[in-house]
Amino acid sequence: MAPPFVHSSAVVDDDVRIGDGSRVWHFCHVSQGARIGKNASLGQNVFVGRGVTLGNGVKVQNNVSIYEGVEIDDDVFLGPSCVFTNVLAPRAFIEKKAEYHPTRVGRGATVGANATIVCGNHVGPYALVGAGAVVTRDVPAYGLVVGNPARRVGWSCKCGVRLPDAPRPRCPSCGQSYIVEGEVCRPAPHAESAPDPIPLVDLRAEHAPLLPALVRAFERVVSSGEMILGEEVRAFEHEAAQTLGVSHAVGVSSGTDALLVSLMALGIGPGDEVVTSAYSFFASAGSIARTLATPVFVDIDLNTLNIDANAIASVITPRTKAIIVPHLFGLPADMRTIAKIAAAHGLFVIEDAAQAFMAKTPEGPVGGLGDIACFSVFPPKSRCAR
Ligand SMILES: *Cc1c(COP(=O)(O)O)cnc(C)c1O
Repeated sequence: MAPPFVHSSAVVDDDVRIGDGSRVWHFCHVSQGARIGKNASLGQNVFVGRGVTLGNGVKVQNNVSIYEGVEIDDDVFLGPSCVFTNVLAPRAFIEKKAEYHPTRVGRGATVGANATIVCGNHVGPYALVGAGAVVTRDVPAYGLVVGNPARRVGWSCKCGVRLPDAPRPRCPSCGQSYIVEGEVCRPAPHAESAPDPIPLVDLRAEHAPLLPALVRAFERVVSSGEMILGEEVRAFEHEAAQTLGVSHAVGVSSGTDALLVSLMALGIGPGDEVVTSAYSFFASAGSIARTLATPVFVDIDLNTLNIDANAIASVITPRTKAIIVPHLFGLPADMRTIAKIAAAHGLFVIEDAAQAFMAKTPEGPVGGLGDIACFSVFPPKSRCAR
């Protein structure tokens, strides 16, 4: 940090300490024994009385006199020409030096331009005294006071913005919440301040042991410059096909697009019907609707929550072209029964395996049990451990 700067027109008495980074501008007078913290700034024509303490980061604007008995905490802002007094009822012809009343301005508080703080009154931390106010009694922390005599008209956030009038006001600017009880205002503890909604999914614990490998893979992709498709996707397609025991795997942008692309590849469109489960993520039916074919719903088996394979036959019509079979929550649907029905009616089977990567059946992993299968790598999807 830079040593303090004192302008050559300023007068600094003996035994004064001024912290690093502080600046003392033109025509200031800093009296004997004064203590000024780091990074403070005294504007032009500021008087600092004997033994007065100013904290770190204090900003004093032009023409302010800080008399003996006044104590200024860290980060206080004193507006231009604001006034501190040190005797309650001064008389020019009566010496009242023994009657100095101490005055304290708490951390982070602001005193507006031309305001007067009558001695013996304390300004609480983060209080805001409006310009021209005359403070004749203590100002509570976070209090916003205006007028002569100064009255509290509201509360001020730590960030300086006026808080809404409420028992639990929340700063419209920075979001900090407060608790107001009578003449006391305090910041709400963090939990009350912003009740975190329960996250849909928290992958941190799952990712933690994989982090080094994930970072390495990320670096590999970034340094290759190939952000779309490329060698990584080819390798992934190859591995996926091998793992699932199928001849081809094709990377597309999402599980939803995989369903749509599958239906399009099978030539399904307006006038066609596609059977699917009444209970699934909406993409199972939504992708059918997007081809302008008609989704036809079949109820679920209450034991598995998957499509009731024995109920499929009853909804098949001459327009039925395919069945989309979701395997929900990692549990494969009854593919044996479905394969028989599909063969009997000449229907395509699309597995919606978005929630069942690596799920296995006696016939093999899901994904190789129908004509086409769709997967998703959306983070919270259920996956089966290897
Ligand atoms: C998530 C999901 C999809 C869609 O996958 P996205 O990658 O999110 O588009 C489709 N079907 C089911 C059953 C799903 O759970």
